[in-house]
Amino acid sequence: KRVEVPKEQHGIDLALVDERAIKVVKTLAEAGHEAYIVGGAVRDLLLGLRPKDFDVATSATPEQVKALFRRAFIIGRRFRIVHVVFGRGRDHEVIEVSTFRALIDATATEQVAGNEKTSKGELANKTSVVDASGRVLRDNVWGPQIEDAARRDFTVNAMYYDPQRELVVDYHGGLADAKKKLLRMIGDPATRYREDPVRIIRVVRFAAKLGFEIEPKTRAPIQEMAALLDNVPASRTFDEMIKLLQTGHALASIEQLRKQGLHRGVFPVLDVALDEAQRHDGREKFVQLALADTDRRVNEGKPVAPSFMLACMLWHDVLDRWQKIKAKGEPPFPALQQAIDAAFDARIGDISGRGKLGADMREIWMMQPRFDRRSGRVPYTLIEQPRFRAGFDFLRLRADAGEIDAELAEWWEDFSLGSDEEREALIEQAR
Ligand code: ATP
Ligand code: MG
Repeated sequence: KRVEVPKEQHGIDLALVDERAIKVVKTLAEAGHEAYIVGGAVRDLLLGLRPKDFDVATSATPEQVKALFRRAFIIGRRFRIVHVVFGRGRDHEVIEVSTFRALIDATATEQVAGNEKTSKGELANKTSVVDASGRVLRDNVWGPQIEDAARRDFTVNAMYYDPQRELVVDYHGGLADAKKKLLRMIGDPATRYREDPVRIIRVVRFAAKLGFEIEPKTRAPIQEMAALLDNVPASRTFDEMIKLLQTGHALASIEQLRKQGLHRGVFPVLDVALDEAQRHDGREKFVQLALADTDRRVNEGKPVAPSFMLACMLWHDVLDRWQKIKAKGEPPFPALQQAIDAAFDARIGDISGRGKLGADMREIWMMQPRFDRRSGRVPYTLIEQPRFRAGFDFLRLRADAGEIDAELAEWWEDFSLGSDEEREALIEQAR
């Protein structure tokens, strides 16, 4: 049932709404299409928060959307959407525009490796494909808004906001659930988890990030369904993990994962961090400090680099391997290279192929032994490295966790901030 909620009831402050998102909605509406801000942004606005990104849902097809904007790109295959781009450099902003999608009827959809046909009528554009377990592999069948709403995950994520008329459109009681701080799955929870097991991670992430409760029926199937996450490509769970670590509530999220019995197997990378943590006291401290530090930065509005977080999560794994290789007589630097290669192979497999991320992690780690060299020109060269700051922050975490002497981190801090004379004195002193 479609409910239109007027401003007096939803109370969204228009000042929290991004101007570019409003512009996108307006442009689409003027071209005769339906268009709304949708999903997480509406949820956050209802909670009085300023959304960090805005998604727009529309009745226009990707091609129609693209034609209306100067800088617009159709992306994605599993899920075709349009990126409308504004500004450059630091001002750069992307509004994601997706076309209303039809509800998937698994029986009307051919299974994977079939001919990708659909029995949907004229609205059908591309096709939907599901695999044998009911997981949706591709999903580009356009439909009316009511169906678009029904396919979203939680009631609080399925509302539409028209910033021009200041109306919220709510089909599933999302407004009431937002007020009750409740995460409720739309439809039958078990079926919805089966369609897309990543929703298991999402429910935990939102609970931690928003401080919401998980409604009992939505919570009930989670443990039983968790095994289905094994079938999800690592790249998707990896993306969700990065999001989870960047919510500003990473510690709380991992606590939630533990509570749901999900902290193992979901994210192989986190397993290492948490398992190691349980075996050695000092190590637990390092991971906890890294997560707390990430949360603090996010909450201060500072950027956090996924490469830094992951470098923290995998550090002790790298360290163990490094020690073992060195013990065989290999010199420190090549030994560390080999340890890193081995850790990537063992822990993140195909993701290590994601060039930049892996390269940045490697750089942070490779810098660590160089911090032990405090003579001659070495320190001067090191602080000129573009990634010095990340390497140094990592060093300081190691010191805070008691892995290395605090004096070393202090020395580098003084050196990086010092004048020429002070730097010379520091090098003298380190002899
Ligand atoms: P965040 O603020 O963390 O970005 P979000 O709700 O915007 O939260 P997104 O991953 O950006 O989350 O997704 C945008 C919207 O798309 C969601 O609000 C939801 O309506 C829908 N959505 C995303 N992922 C799924 C999914 N796996 N199943 C169903 N709906 C989804
Ligand atoms: Mg979002």
